[in-house]
Amino acid sequence: MVAAIVIGVIYWLRTREVPTPFVTQGRLQVYALDVGQGDSFLIISPEGKSVLIDAGPPQAGDEVVAALRKRNIQSLDLAVATHPHSDHIGGMIQVIENFEVKNFLDSGQTYTSKTYERMLRAITDKRIKFIVAKKGMKFELDSGVKLDVLNPQGGDQGIKKVRQGGSVENANSIVMRLTYGNFAMLFTGDAETETEEVMMKSGEPLRAQVLKVGHHGSRYATSAKFLEAVAPEVAIISVGAGNNYGHPAQSTLNRLQKAGVKIYRTDLNGEITVVTDGNKFEVHAAKQPVQIAMNRTYKSYKNY
Ligand SMILES: [Zn+2]
Repeated sequence: MVAAIVIGVIYWLRTREVPTPFVTQGRLQVYALDVGQGDSFLIISPEGKSVLIDAGPPQAGDEVVAALRKRNIQSLDLAVATHPHSDHIGGMIQVIENFEVKNFLDSGQTYTSKTYERMLRAITDKRIKFIVAKKGMKFELDSGVKLDVLNPQGGDQGIKKVRQGGSVENANSIVMRLTYGNFAMLFTGDAETETEEVMMKSGEPLRAQVLKVGHHGSRYATSAKFLEAVAPEVAIISVGAGNNYGHPAQSTLNRLQKAGVKIYRTDLNGEITVVTDGNKFEVHAAKQPVQIAMNRTYKSYKNY
């Protein structure tokens, strides 16, 4: 008789769809759209004002348009391009073609790419009000709902020196802090540590219960010091499954975990929704990754 005992500890990650009905009416809603490798965030105020921060890569254009239609959005009060990289502005042309955009907020950086130039042309053609972002600007959505611009620094104050392999466009991303009552959320674009340092020095309030993690969870963003300054409870990472950049970095995930922050990721959770009445907030994920830890003993017997 041969008995083979295999003791295995098996972890596997399964995803299952979880329908999450929740009250949105009269509340501030923030949707992290599932756009693959890129960023796109939709804000809807309690009175129905809407802001789109980035529009994902070009192939996500349909997805972004559908997400806006699903919420009965006809016009956007503000569209924001945090910086001119195509994983943030790729879907913007489709947005401009399908919805009335009342104001456009741009980082104002000189950048030559077909996608960026086409986007600028579409903005001009549609006569959309074009605003170049600068620290200190404020956008009041409803009474009590505000977006404060924390970066770029404006004029010739922009960040010019970045780490080796870094990007000036990322460093001069538009960073905004959304506030409503006691609730705050920080949108960081693809800003990395240089920008975090500048913002921490500025003395502007950075605290936020929810942090849109900078640069898709890159190891060069979201420093421990910055996490201390923001003190988030929840972090949202917009990232594509199996992307070539290694986003999000394990070191960033570790820093977030060490700081006790609950992490949501669009690659694992799909679309992520934050709803708040200004006092409490809830986070809902379209998909709930379920980690199943098993400590099972497998026994196989061969009897001869
Ligand atoms: Zn990006």
